[in-house]
Amino acid sequence: MSGRVSTTATSSSLRERLRTQLADLKMPGALEALDDILRQVDSGQLATGEAVERLLGAHIALRNARRLQTAMRSARLPAVKTLADFDFSFQPSVKREQLESLHTLGFIERKENVVLLGPPGVGKTHLALSLAVAAAESGRRVYFATLADLLHSLEEAQAAGRLAHRLRTLVFPSLMVIDEIGYLPITRTGAMFFFQLMARRYEHASTILTSNKGFEEWGEIFGDDVMAAALVDRLVHHCHIVNIRGNSYRLRQHADLARRLHGSSSTSAVASAELESRRSVKSKRQEELHTR
Ligand code: ADP
Ligand code: MG
Repeated sequence: MSGRVSTTATSSSLRERLRTQLADLKMPGALEALDDILRQVDSGQLATGEAVERLLGAHIALRNARRLQTAMRSARLPAVKTLADFDFSFQPSVKREQLESLHTLGFIERKENVVLLGPPGVGKTHLALSLAVAAAESGRRVYFATLADLLHSLEEAQAAGRLAHRLRTLVFPSLMVIDEIGYLPITRTGAMFFFQLMARRYEHASTILTSNKGFEEWGEIFGDDVMAAALVDRLVHHCHIVNIRGNSYRLRQHADLARRLHGSSSTSAVASAELESRRSVKSKRQEELHTR
């Protein structure tokens, strides 16, 4: 114990000098935490190394919160989701190690892509957002859009004669999330715009895509098998694929409904047999009611 207790309290002049330095370095988070940290050092609760760590930690926390706030506005993130909020036990097909490794953001450094595939409600957007949040907190430029919104903005740019400019600006973010590929049909022009954008971002910056359809169905989405094949070819070249097979988290309180909607995906034979027998009991009861 004695080794950690400091014998001299921090003098007020040292305290003032530290304040001035932190203000000069524009470290308001650390400045705000300073008094509390020094008090704990003086009372022997914090060792020197821990105090330095706490001070820098306070700076980093505030800086990250501000980065995220800015990104929420400029990157159009629809919500803040984190990996910590993701319940892996609910979705066993999602491998924690793969997701934790992706969250270290090496894929952005290496300009690799991430594709999240799976039925509705399994957490594709959640995981795409948590990666976007991590990237924004690390100070990287992020952009988030659904495919439909992205194509709409490109169509508008074309109508205004600014397509080339718009495409150039969309190459710039080091991480782009394109959500919901496959929910809405897209036009031929839309498919061409998307292809052009992905061709430009290829090996230049990372893109995260989410889709409820497997790659083999992308030809249908884009109305062009050849273009879709070329697109998928570029995409999967440097790509992490997260294939989620499981139940909708949205419907977790309504297990019966989930089973009926995604009959085959994860329903065990026992569960569907149960459902069937419950149905037949119900219909028998209804028949009885009708015959009365
Ligand atoms: P998808 O994009 O695959 O349709 P979402 O990511 O939008 O699904 O998930 C639907 C909702 O359920 C969101 O509010 C999301 O945060 C939540 N959610 C999904 N999966 C999980 C999970 N495994 N743990 C915690 N929340 C989840
Ligand atoms: Mg989604």
